[in-house]
Amino acid sequence: MRHTGRIHSIETFGTVDGPGIRFVLFLQGCALQCRYCHNPDSWDTQGGTLRTVDEILAEIEPYVDYYTRSGGGITVSGGEPTLQAPFVAELFQACKDRWNLHTALDSSGFCDPSHADTLLGVTDLVLLDLKLMNRRGHVELTTQPNDRTIAFAKHLSERGNRMWVRRVLVPGLTDSAEDLIDLGRFVEELTGVEKVEVLPYHRMGVYKWQQLGMPYTLDGIQETALEEVQRAYQLIGRGRNMVRVRPKI
Ligand code: SF4
Repeated sequence: MRHTGRIHSIETFGTVDGPGIRFVLFLQGCALQCRYCHNPDSWDTQGGTLRTVDEILAEIEPYVDYYTRSGGGITVSGGEPTLQAPFVAELFQACKDRWNLHTALDSSGFCDPSHADTLLGVTDLVLLDLKLMNRRGHVELTTQPNDRTIAFAKHLSERGNRMWVRRVLVPGLTDSAEDLIDLGRFVEELTGVEKVEVLPYHRMGVYKWQQLGMPYTLDGIQETALEEVQRAYQLIGRGRNMVRVRPKI
């Protein structure tokens, strides 16, 4: 059986969403509305373009050597890829069967874990966004509480899935010392976390909000300075004994 997915966009030479050079597939549809989102045009679950697994495999095929030789693979991002878990699971399985390709899932974790187990069984690495540990702040940032994401992280830990935990650092919103230390403590309790990545906030997607006629509420907030990223790593490490981190600028 070949599932169909709603596709937002494709990047054939991604270098920031997992190890090596990667085919990055951005899926359409997200239940969150993060104020810093640089792909607000990916939120609508009825938007995007319908593509089959075979069509996506044909897009990957010309570049497979680059992915395998660089220690890369395929990353499925969004939007929120777990909303289309059966499609992604079939795609990942096919990538493994054909090329033994490394598979990564870039997720907000805002999903019912029981709906994602088949997918997680063919996922080599989960890039998990822990946007904010403070529950009320998470609602203000994304419109939704973080209960599902926390539960998803624990589920991954229990399953033994490998994880890279990520935090977008937005000055004044997601960079408080208290929350970063809490993040470090939470990560310390999980198994399978190989890395924590602090991602600086940037404004490259602001034009999309303008094109969609949506108010961008972070006007006036500057892009994150390198020193702030380094400070965040230190604070996360204070709550975590063995933090392994790699700045991503
Ligand atoms: S989870 Fe990702 S795609 Fe969804 S609103 Fe947040 S940043 Fe945008």
